[in-house]
Parts: sequence; structure tokens; C-alpha cells
Amino acid sequence: ESFDDYELDENLLRGIYSYGFEKPSAIQQRGIKPILDGRDTIGQAQSGTGKTATFVIGALQRINYGERHTQALILAPTRELANQIYKVALALGDYLKVRAHACIGGTSIQEDKDKLRDGQHLVVGTPGRVYDMVNKRHLNVDYLKVFVLDEADELMSRGFKDQIYDIFKCLPPDVQVCLFSATMAPEILDMTTKFMRNAVRILV
Ligand code: AMP
Repeated sequence: ESFDDYELDENLLRGIYSYGFEKPSAIQQRGIKPILDGRDTIGQAQSGTGKTATFVIGALQRINYGERHTQALILAPTRELANQIYKVALALGDYLKVRAHACIGGTSIQEDKDKLRDGQHLVVGTPGRVYDMVNKRHLNVDYLKVFVLDEADELMSRGFKDQIYDIFKCLPPDVQVCLFSATMAPEILDMTTKFMRNAVRILV
């Protein structure tokens, strides 16, 4: 199997190959297609499997670059992880000229407001700051197509459940949800039954 098989935008494909990837990893082979099809997707996978590129490639291909609305939102449990995902999105989306921003606790709120007002296709962040930006209407989620929860088990164990539920309440009802987690604890299954429909499940 090859990245050429997914009918990706040629500029996304260029980004993938320039980044140094030659062929899709196991989770990419099983996870990219359903995300591109708009399906809710549950990936049970540890880090090191290539899960980041799975949802970043999926999200980048789902964005309409003619519109400056935020169409993809990715949540991660730590500032470091959110930053890493942001950098991967910028690199893979370089030739697409993706507009992306990281909304991370402990950074300048004013800079977040300014960047979001400029219009960003993709936002990556930690739940507290993202919720703050959504709640204060600096981040408009009305045009969101894809919502990704990375390391959902970590998000739960770090006490982000209420903020994530609050974010869900603001999203369009038909938003695509992609959830990645190393384990499927009861509270994660709970979230998948509340907010996901007819999900594709992938265990790597
Ligand atoms: P992750 O599981 O997302 O943390 O990725 C683990 C590592 O695998 C990262 O260093 C990625 O850059 C790398 N990686 C992900 N997908 C591929 C691929 N298709 N080919 C080569 N390396 C990859």
C-alpha cells in the first residue's frame, strides 16, 4: 500500500513525501481512509504507531482551503503534545499553505485572539485554552468538519472531561469525531456512545 492510493491532494502528497514518509504505517493504512470518508473513527493505538500523521493527513485533506474558517480542531492532553501535532500539521500541510494555530495554556491569550481573528483552517490545542477561546467566541466552531481527541485516556485522567463535554456542546451536531486512545476505559466508551455515531474501530 502507498500514500498514492488515497486520492490525496497532490500538495498534501508532496508534504508527506517531503517529510520523509515513504509508505503508510499499519494504523495509517487502516485509519486514513475512514477519516477521508467522513466516518467517525476510533483508533486504539499507542504512540509510536504513526497515529499523529493518521489524523493530521485525514484532517488536512478534509479542509476546504478556499475558506478561512476553522474546519479541523485537534485536542491533546499536554502542551508538548499539542505543539508536536501542530508542527506535524504545518510540515505535512506546507504545500497546501495550511493556516494553523496552536491554542495552548500558558501562552499569550492576546496572540491567540489575533491569530484566530486572522482565520485558521486548523487549530490544535489543550482543552482549557481551547474551551476558553470557544466560550469567548474568539474561536468560531460553526464551520468545523473534524474534531480529533488525541490520547483520550490521558485527557480523561488529567481531568479534562468537563471541558471536553463543554466543547462538544458548542460543535455542529454533524461534526466528524475521531478519537485516539491507548486504552478504552469506561469513561472513554461513554464519550464514544454519547458523541460518536456508527464509528469505525481500529485496533493496532
Ligand atoms: P506517532 O505514533 O504519531 O507519535 O509517530 C511515531 C513516529 O513515527 C514519529 O517520529 C513519526 O514521524 C514517525 N512516522 C509516522 N508515520 C510514518 C511513516 N508512514 N513512515 C515513517 N515514519 C513515520
